[in-house]
Amino acid sequence: MNEHAMLGFIGLGNMGLPMASRLLAAGHKVLAFDLRQDACQALAAQGAEIATSPRAIADRAITVFMSLPTPQVVRQVIEGKHHEGKHHEGKHQGEGLLGAAAMKVLVDLSTTGASITKDLARVTQQAGVCYVDSPVSGGVNGAVKGTLAIMCACPRKDYEALEGLLAVFGKPFHVGEEAGQGQSMKLANNMLSATAMAASAEAIAFGVKQGLNPMVMAEVINVSTGANTAIRDKFPKAIIPRLFNFGFASGLMNKDVQLCLEEAQACGVPMAIGSAVGAIWHETVERLGAESDFTEVAKIIEAKAGVVIEIKPSSSKE
Ligand code: NAD
Repeated sequence: MNEHAMLGFIGLGNMGLPMASRLLAAGHKVLAFDLRQDACQALAAQGAEIATSPRAIADRAITVFMSLPTPQVVRQVIEGKHHEGKHHEGKHQGEGLLGAAAMKVLVDLSTTGASITKDLARVTQQAGVCYVDSPVSGGVNGAVKGTLAIMCACPRKDYEALEGLLAVFGKPFHVGEEAGQGQSMKLANNMLSATAMAASAEAIAFGVKQGLNPMVMAEVINVSTGANTAIRDKFPKAIIPRLFNFGFASGLMNKDVQLCLEEAQACGVPMAIGSAVGAIWHETVERLGAESDFTEVAKIIEAKAGVVIEIKPSSSKE
């Protein structure tokens, strides 16, 4: 792969914008697109060229990255808008990425679930493009700092060709040969992350109701057997200071948890705990909206417990 070739980047959201910034900072030329003008302007200010559509990117860039919110959006960007009955293998109507002049490698950094990824990999490969299933973990902070875990599933030779480029975002792992395996890896991780958030909110709410200082609880748990990423990062940085600004939408976390539950059910893996976690995230989206920050799940638990997880003036001098 020519490291200096133009790279495409579609989707400049909480994750995509800092990831594309890192490509620019590493000396790559980037041609980008997002529906949001403000995101495009922010990347253009760092030296990116902005395209008029996803298709315009695939007409010029050999390697194209996508960081898009949902499976439906990923499908629409790849396939374009279909006309009923005119969707043939490898031939797609509208302005999708398939059939574009330049694109040879499509790297999907989004979380979409294994089923749709397998399907999209099939149609993409039929159009002569290598599909790299490559979801990421590590949050906005990881995207900014280049410390993401990158869960890549594709043929080994394609992974090796891309590894150097992926290292700009963090630590790449080759988790499998088949598209969809990266997604399964990511859904397993996010089910645990969502569980840690919900279960930790219950445990901290319990302690606060008993009069404990939540910051002291976090400090103790962090060096005890209950330690987890929610207690390490989300409670001290976003929940206890009442900032709720971690940069991952409740709607996206709910999407990941529900995808995991659907796919676990389809392959015969019972998830009793996962189902309870799924119910809490569903309720969070119902009550606080899909755009709320995922750390706001704590508010749902607080309301049921009749407490607020914050440092009260009387306990702040402890
Ligand atoms: P986001 O909603 O902040 O960003 C998505 C971007 O895609 C937005 O800027 C939106 O305008 C753009 N977009 C939507 N439709 C588009 C289209 N048709 N064409 C071009 N752009 C379009 O989401 P995010 O938090 O950046 O997450 C992106 C993906 O990464 C999701 O699949 C998410 O599940 C996953 N993810 C997020 C995090 C996180 O902490 N935020 C961590 C790991 C993985």
